[in-house]
Amino acid sequence: MSYEKISMVLTTVLYMVSSVLFIRGIKLLGKADTARQGNRLSSIGMLIAVVTVFLEKNVTDTLTEGVMKNAYVWAIAAIAVGGIIGAVWAKKVEMTGMPQLVALFNGFGGLSSLLVALTQYMTDKSINVFSSIALGLTIAIGAVAFTGSVVAWGKLSGKMFKKNISIPGKNFVNALLALAGLCGVGLYALSIAGTLDTSLGEIGVIIVTAAYLILGFTMVVAIGGGDMPVIISLLNAFSGLAAAFAGLSISNSVLVVSGCLVGTSGLILTLIMCKAMNRTLYSLLFGSFGGSSKKGAAGEQKEPKAMSVEDAYLILEAASSVVFIPGYGMAVAQAQHAVKELCDKLEENGAEVNFAIHPVAGRMPGHMNVLLAEANVPYEQLKTADEMNPQMSNTDVAIVIGANDVVNPSALEDESSPLYGMPIINAFEARTVFVLKRGKGTGFSGVENPLFTNDNTVMIYGDAKQTVSSLVSEFDEG
Ligand code: NDP
Repeated sequence: MSYEKISMVLTTVLYMVSSVLFIRGIKLLGKADTARQGNRLSSIGMLIAVVTVFLEKNVTDTLTEGVMKNAYVWAIAAIAVGGIIGAVWAKKVEMTGMPQLVALFNGFGGLSSLLVALTQYMTDKSINVFSSIALGLTIAIGAVAFTGSVVAWGKLSGKMFKKNISIPGKNFVNALLALAGLCGVGLYALSIAGTLDTSLGEIGVIIVTAAYLILGFTMVVAIGGGDMPVIISLLNAFSGLAAAFAGLSISNSVLVVSGCLVGTSGLILTLIMCKAMNRTLYSLLFGSFGGSSKKGAAGEQKEPKAMSVEDAYLILEAASSVVFIPGYGMAVAQAQHAVKELCDKLEENGAEVNFAIHPVAGRMPGHMNVLLAEANVPYEQLKTADEMNPQMSNTDVAIVIGANDVVNPSALEDESSPLYGMPIINAFEARTVFVLKRGKGTGFSGVENPLFTNDNTVMIYGDAKQTVSSLVSEFDEG
């Protein structure tokens, strides 16, 4: 067998092995106790895929070339620079900074696919029509995932676009950009088919690149509040789809498989989150929910009542049912272990304790579940909004720990609120509501919360971890 044949068989087998590892890895990621193993298997799959690229004939052919044309020099340099930056960044990031890091990584995924497609466009002069369409779609989806994710990163980190920018005629503008980009793909494909002149094909590539880079911006910049988690998951799906199309255009099977896995799992997560948030994909992309940032009207004139930890302890000591409602502030304060201690004290005191977890509490899907699992809160105690809301009116005390948007009643009753339509945890129905937060800060959506001025609500100001630890101490002393 010739060297060429051996190399082809070897790379095909190795790509299949890494594809199987990816599929098995993603299956294991579905459960908390096997997630680490899934991560490890997928990483091994990725290592095999990268090493296999180095064995590809068109790569080995460059081995004897000078620095500028030697694929190994460029690939190893890129891996070293990217690897070091990625490792340092991932090591340094706080748990609360994870969502913006993930958003940025999504964006880099989209950018990589975009660059792969543009390089292919510039170097491959024997491309067929099918591959040219795949290449055009890679450019489109990669570009939208890139700029969209950069805007999402800016919003999540609070560094850019904090206020939702409303674009006049947003849907029309977005539809026009999407259509113009698709026409660009069409021009390019027709030029490859020989129907149109090559220069028109070049113009087509420029149009699709520019239109979809702008579309990523216009699509995400107007989104805020409850829609952010869903759009991040959609961008994740886009970055996967872009990789899958890139795989088709450069005929790389493992890129198609891994891209499809990311694309479909991202899409499934998007649909699950849409359902949990009472939204459709159409209204997310073309509606106005979460698009404006008006202040909540109700309760703006009233002042919230504050209570000391000592007085709060007396109420808790007499409570027979308590529901914890954790939010982003619990993650900031890293209060989960103190919360578990307080949960134990309440149970020793005879109270029934549950946790009501909102699907978008915190800053990433499953954020609260991860933190509470880390503190050994039993899984059975973690309840969804649907499970807890019917029991809320029979609850003695609801303890809102660093949550804000997910307990904001204006989502139910104030049509002008950017949160309107989002399901919430009905904390306001409990007999007494404790809200643990540092001050008068708003939540992610930036709107006021009328819950805080309700007659049955009291604020316990301070860092959540300190407040909860003080309550635990009161139980110890009492
Ligand atoms: P919010 O962001 O609405 O509110 C968090 C609250 O925590 C703030 O009001 C803040 O008030 C308080 N807080 C901050 N630090 C502390 C601390 N150390 N101790 C005590 N309190 C603190 O959180 P929610 O979880 O209620 O809502 C999540 C929001 O994030 C939703 O709007 C959701 O759409 C959005 N989002 C969710 C994502 C996800 O995937 N889960 C991803 C992206 C966005 P103060 O400053 O006064 O202390």
